[in-house]
Amino acid sequence: MSLIVGTSLFVVALWVSGGGIQATLGWNADTLTTLGRVTGLASANLLLYQVLLMARIPLFERGFGRDGITRMHRYVGFWSFWLLLAHIALLVIGYAATASVTLWAQLWDFVWNYPGMLLATAGTGLLIAVVVSSARRARRRLRYESWHLLHLYGYLGVGLAVPHMLWTGADFTANPLATVYWWTLWAITAACVVVFRVIIPLWRSRRHALRVHEVVADGSHGVSVRVHGRGLHRLGAEAGQFFVWRFLDGPGWSAGHPFSLAAAPDRNELVIAARIVGDGTQRLTRLTPGTPVMIEGPYGHMTGALRQGRKLLMLAAGAGVAPMTALLEAEAYAPGDAVLITRDHAPSELMRAGAIARLVRERGVRHLALDGARSPGASSWIPATHDAWRGSDLLRHVAPDLEQYDVYLCGPLPWMAAVRADLRTAGVARDRIHSEAFAV
Ligand SMILES: Cc1cc2nc3c(=O)[nH]c(=O)nc-3n(C[C@H](O)[C@H](O)[C@H](O)COP(=O)(O)OP(=O)(O)OC[C@H]3O[C@@H](n4cnc5c(N)ncnc54)[C@H](O)[C@@H]3O)c2cc1C
Repeated sequence: MSLIVGTSLFVVALWVSGGGIQATLGWNADTLTTLGRVTGLASANLLLYQVLLMARIPLFERGFGRDGITRMHRYVGFWSFWLLLAHIALLVIGYAATASVTLWAQLWDFVWNYPGMLLATAGTGLLIAVVVSSARRARRRLRYESWHLLHLYGYLGVGLAVPHMLWTGADFTANPLATVYWWTLWAITAACVVVFRVIIPLWRSRRHALRVHEVVADGSHGVSVRVHGRGLHRLGAEAGQFFVWRFLDGPGWSAGHPFSLAAAPDRNELVIAARIVGDGTQRLTRLTPGTPVMIEGPYGHMTGALRQGRKLLMLAAGAGVAPMTALLEAEAYAPGDAVLITRDHAPSELMRAGAIARLVRERGVRHLALDGARSPGASSWIPATHDAWRGSDLLRHVAPDLEQYDVYLCGPLPWMAAVRADLRTAGVARDRIHSEAFAV
């Protein structure tokens, strides 16, 4: 984040050194066009970082995790969009005032007569579509796949919107430092998208020759898929991480779905466990052995590297149990020092039941299954059967020396928020709580 803020200040500094501030002091049309230039610069800078954030660069993915990146993406997206609108409005009003023409005539002139502006208009249209479709209400109505496809057009939108500034913007062409900065950032961003989102996933999938080995039901609403390949240790994947998976079994293969590793990865096998919630997860149940698999990843930072102590408390709702079993298989702890709390509506829904039983038997994990309908009380993460408990007390009851534990959390966002609140009430430090949301 400091890189994004720092470079934004840098582009503003370049604008100041080019006489930006003096140009605003006349309080006339020039003031508007000069402010229009600086808002455009800041917006372009943020838009390029916006794309970089979503380019799946391993350094970012490991450093911030998917949730952290998604949060930054939203924040940067908000500012880049409003600055873009301010840029357009200020320039149209400023130029129209100077030329004494109507706003529409000025807008028309920009679009048709300025180099790169037709492309920029198309790009802006795409960016507006992305922002509108991401608004909470619209997002609820759209299928995930449609929203995601539209979101990918955002890349195209940035690709089309930014070059007009490089070709014509006074702030780019006049100052060699600015020219170098902008072309470098633009080239790095484009290269990262191509390398990390296309070339590396294709190369990895080919190199490791991944294929479906076995598909089995996992609880009453889930499915586990075992995928075999060669030299999988070279992927550098760790328990707690996830990949984006594509199963090449026919139409629909192009939609990638993120699934966490459900077992500690080894040289030849990766395992995922998915709760069936829609078309993509339903398709998993029909996979046949031998189906080729493409992966993007590994991603995510909810690994054992975050641990500070000896003891582990894992809390998982539904499919959130998948990364927890992987972590419990991979991590070191003494018998009795690891607790797994699972949350399902019915005992039959529990996923990874076999792996959990093995962990209890062979590694001394303590397993507490909290099943049943949601509690109407304040601690909505616990079932109604435990309504007499305050969530924070229940946590202390299960792990009386709670300060000694690293807590791992995975499940739906509201559930995680409720658990986190009770963990904090129970006195668990923020930096001992590690989580990954199964949501974008
Ligand atoms: C980092 C991460 C790790 C995950 N790990 C697991 C796991 O181990 N096991 C598991 O059961 N689920 C996991 N999920 C959730 C899983 O990706 C979605 O449930 C699945 O993609 C739903 O696809 P669908 O077509 O069956 O359902 P749909 O009906 O298409 O979607 C149901 C909901 O799932 C979400 N979703 C759909 N497609 C995607 C996608 N491509 N990327 C992100 N979210 C999507 C959307 O919020 C959507 O509203 C994970 C999600 C994330 C973000």
